[in-house]
Amino acid sequence: MKTFAEIDLIAPLHRALVDEKYETPTPIQAQTIPAALSGRDVLGCAQTGTGKTAAFALPILDRLGEEQPRSKPNCPNVLVLAPTRELAIQIGDSFATYGKNLPLKHVLVYGGVSQNSQVRALNKGAHILVATPGRLLDLMNQGYIHLNHLQVFVLDEADRMLDMGFLPDLKKIIKQLPKKRQSLFFSATMPPNIVELSRQLLTNPTSVNVTPKKTSVERIEQQVYYIERTGKRELLKKILQKPDVDRAIVFSRTKRGANMLAQKLLLAGIKAAAIHGNKSQGARQRALEAFRTKQIDVLVATDVAARGIDIDGVTHVVNYDLPTEPESYVHRIGRTGRAGAEGLAISFCTSDERRDLMAIEKLIGQKVPLAPGQPAPQPVSEESKKAAPQRGGRRNSRPRRGGQGRSGDTSKNSGSQRTAGHGSTEATATDGKPKRRRRRKGTRRQQQSGQTTG
Ligand code: AMP
Repeated sequence: MKTFAEIDLIAPLHRALVDEKYETPTPIQAQTIPAALSGRDVLGCAQTGTGKTAAFALPILDRLGEEQPRSKPNCPNVLVLAPTRELAIQIGDSFATYGKNLPLKHVLVYGGVSQNSQVRALNKGAHILVATPGRLLDLMNQGYIHLNHLQVFVLDEADRMLDMGFLPDLKKIIKQLPKKRQSLFFSATMPPNIVELSRQLLTNPTSVNVTPKKTSVERIEQQVYYIERTGKRELLKKILQKPDVDRAIVFSRTKRGANMLAQKLLLAGIKAAAIHGNKSQGARQRALEAFRTKQIDVLVATDVAARGIDIDGVTHVVNYDLPTEPESYVHRIGRTGRAGAEGLAISFCTSDERRDLMAIEKLIGQKVPLAPGQPAPQPVSEESKKAAPQRGGRRNSRPRRGGQGRSGDTSKNSGSQRTAGHGSTEATATDGKPKRRRRRKGTRRQQQSGQTTG
């Protein structure tokens, strides 16, 4: 395999890569960078953790670094769309890191914070705009963003974006893209709706497929404990106190549950913090940084809050509550076992959650093995079996406009922007408000999934 030194990138990028100690391109980079440098569209099937950010950022920076276009107010040359603020910030950080020796500017645009500083940054002009769809559309409608000078369009985590209900926003954005452009499209999975979307966006693309879903799942050791709710907390403590746990992410279904759990772990002497949509952006970033720098060992997270978290060296993922959407299981356990490392994904499954586990096993095409020394579970009743959804047929998977899954992108409080090489993010505020709990019989699942997303 070629090293970066052998890849035809401009010198300022080579210097940045040397500083980052990147020597060899990852498979997605090895395939994507030459195609993108030659101007081709790219259809990449790759998850976070494969190095896909550099796969699109480096050719973009190479092109802009060579052309050195003047940044025009409100008219970016490059648009990168990401489903969540966290991912947008990480992408912005990557552009800043790789582009630190280039006179290029980038701006971040996402919801949940005031638009003022974002608008100011857009007015000053930036080459690269990294955005989440809701706020982007909002600012486009207000006339602060024009896409007529766009040269490159990147759609990142396309499957996640559709899962979060962004398709209507995406369609509106796509309509305003100039016909002549380069498009780079990335998705962890390629279900039919994603293939259809990619067809609309891409012209004669190079297809790059580095992480078929099964491979990543197969690399991660999985275990399940059949346990009742009352025993979960003690078992979690026992697991987290084992010496082989270096960094763990614990998934809770609700934000309240995440808070409580983090507190209980702290009381037990386990260094933990909660991260979910009701935490301010600052608090989330601080928790992530503490986790990254090993000031804490455990992050207790809800699904949306954990999406796109880019932290290597997560040794354990614990599904304290199983997700009601089987796809979330794959996303969750993918937080461990990154960059070829081994990972252990442990799930707790109460009798209430057996249907969720069955749906997960159907999706991943394998049984989740019993944790060592655990007794086999009681057989599941025929009724529960019938209730298990078919592959891809998620319960309650309809996007809820204004729901927590996307609300981080639409509310309007304080602001944030970054500039490549020397920016800082100042951001507060949260995802949507927690849904009010209703305890009507037969709607438990719905209520739970309403609280899941953070
Ligand atoms: P991503 O999939 O873009 O989220 O990247 C995953 C992680 O891999 C990030 O921490 C990157 O800094 C790191 N990374 C990306 N490319 C390389 C490379 N070629 N060599 C070493 N580390 C890399």
